[in-house]
Amino acid sequence: MRCFDCGTELVCRANQSYRYDESGLDNVFLVGINVYDCPKCQTISPEIPNVLGLHLAVSVALLGKSAKLRGPEVRFLRKILGVRSKDFARQLGYNPVSYSRIENDKENINDQGDRLVRLWFLAQRSAEIERHFAAIEHEVVHAWEIVRMDEIREEATNERIEIPVDLLVQAAQNEEFAGGTPAC
Ligand SMILES: [Zn+2]
Repeated sequence: MRCFDCGTELVCRANQSYRYDESGLDNVFLVGINVYDCPKCQTISPEIPNVLGLHLAVSVALLGKSAKLRGPEVRFLRKILGVRSKDFARQLGYNPVSYSRIENDKENINDQGDRLVRLWFLAQRSAEIERHFAAIEHEVVHAWEIVRMDEIREEATNERIEIPVDLLVQAAQNEEFAGGTPAC
């Protein structure tokens, strides 16, 4: 494979850990992934076998947190739901300015808002996850339990989220998810 920018032959490194900055989050890591380095441009490109599955797995990991969601996590979930910021604000009962401050981490989401984000996501996506991604079904059950718990959560924390690439490959093989088996 050649570099998209300069045409230099890329160097493949297997079984790496890659911080998935493309998500807009700084705490999501893909584990066991192939990455391609361009020796000339110094760029690193991950080989993600199943982007849809990855986004669902990250979402469910966020929903299963016992700590409150951080702004960028709320933004990530909204984008996976495919809802515009001002529409999501309305659905959660925020005015668009306050909601924007939450996504930008200038204001913390309140307990009801946090719970509603999780409920919206689970209501809209849990059937799809159960159908296509059985390996994370138990995490969906856990996420529902978190929503049902009637207690104030700890303040937002930023623990590491690790997604094993094997999991994504398996889900892609089982279903119609786009992608293939990594080959380095
Ligand atoms: Zn290059």
